[in-house]
Amino acid sequence: MSKIFDLFIIGGGINGAGIARDAAGRGLSVCLADKGEIGGATSSWSTKLIHGGLRYLENYEFKLVRESLKEREIVYKIAKPISKPMPFIIPYVDKIRPAWLIKIGLFLYDNLGGKSNIPKSKTLNLRKNFPNILQEKYKIGFQYFDIQIDDKELTKLNIKDAKRNKAKILEYNKVKKAEIIDNKWIIHLQNGKKIASKVLINASGPWINETLKKNIKLKSNKKIRLVKGSHIITKKLYKDDVAFTFQNNDKRIIFVIPYKKKFSLIGTTEVEVKSPENKEISKIEIKYLINSVNNYLKKKISTKDIVDTYSGIRPLIEDFNTATKVTRDYVFDLNIIKDLPLLNIYGGKLTTYRKLSEKVLLDLKEYLPNTKKGPWTDKKKLL
Ligand SMILES: Cc1cc2nc3c(=O)[nH]c(=O)nc-3n(C[C@H](O)[C@H](O)[C@H](O)COP(=O)(O)OP(=O)(O)OC[C@H]3O[C@@H](n4cnc5c(N)ncnc54)[C@H](O)[C@@H]3O)c2cc1C
Repeated sequence: MSKIFDLFIIGGGINGAGIARDAAGRGLSVCLADKGEIGGATSSWSTKLIHGGLRYLENYEFKLVRESLKEREIVYKIAKPISKPMPFIIPYVDKIRPAWLIKIGLFLYDNLGGKSNIPKSKTLNLRKNFPNILQEKYKIGFQYFDIQIDDKELTKLNIKDAKRNKAKILEYNKVKKAEIIDNKWIIHLQNGKKIASKVLINASGPWINETLKKNIKLKSNKKIRLVKGSHIITKKLYKDDVAFTFQNNDKRIIFVIPYKKKFSLIGTTEVEVKSPENKEISKIEIKYLINSVNNYLKKKISTKDIVDTYSGIRPLIEDFNTATKVTRDYVFDLNIIKDLPLLNIYGGKLTTYRKLSEKVLLDLKEYLPNTKKGPWTDKKKLL
């Protein structure tokens, strides 16, 4: 164990992978370990969208939507071969959201992120444009665009680039313990090896507080809620290369998105859970998703149409200003323990991983004197 790394990252989801890529590209020595497959957890159970998050505007999360829209532009540019713009149609239902509200939302969505290469929103005649897909009662729709991406591949490409810049990546190797000995972090791995590092980053997604408590033996400063989101996959429900955003009576929305040429991806739900391991879709969630589709599409679906399902768990941080509000944004929790930094990364979106990684390196600048250059990942393509 003679080498001392600049940075050790727990977790090879999109956040850990993005930080590893950015740091290694700046000349830092990086080691990352994941207890499973790289990108095999939350970062492959997402809705697979690089999006501003139109619905977050309703919660006044303008900062998050603005940053996400800017990142949508950049991630699309650097990861074009694994992403594509996808039109989304919101059928208008006056009782759920008035047209003026949706129009204001879409105006903000078109403009908050600044200059964009992604087409702007517009109003559509649904009977004329999608007569065979939607029920007759839906006459008007609003179209906007987001980016569909291969989430797991995005994570793997970040790791590939980190490796190219000499990062050490360890898969299927759980971090069992991290402690400070002789002015450095000593990380104990499942395979019995020990790694030394100056900086420790905990990017273990929904396991964040579990990692802190069980493996680093520290109490968390932040309260999180674990929220399960589930998807069902059916055979392609219609031919057109278009996605739908269906509004439910409970004001939640679900997406129906063309998926891997032959399928439709339908999600998602939101169910609070106790453990990050508990990630099976429930019968209630399946019913909720099926009902939602059947409220809109002409051709009804049932459980028989389901070919696969998957669920993921988000750690949502309770906002510190208001006790009840949870935010979709990411939050950093930097602790200096015996002069050594430990950065815990809470929450986030696939969409904002690159900016998050940049901010990590900015916040840790004084602890990383070997940094050779500034931000670079917005220009260099991933493949
Ligand atoms: C249902 C759902 C849909 C979503 N859809 C979208 C979307 O469409 N667009 C979007 O932008 N965002 C979306 N998100 C959010 C996005 O998926 C997450 O923000 C992102 O994947 C989180 O990445 P992460 O690296 O923090 O976590 P993860 O991908 O979970 O990575 C954490 C890693 O840490 C590892 N780990 C844990 N403990 C240890 C340990 N002790 N030692 C070593 N390794 C450990 C795990 O194995 C795991 O691989 C969605 C989230 C959910 C749940």
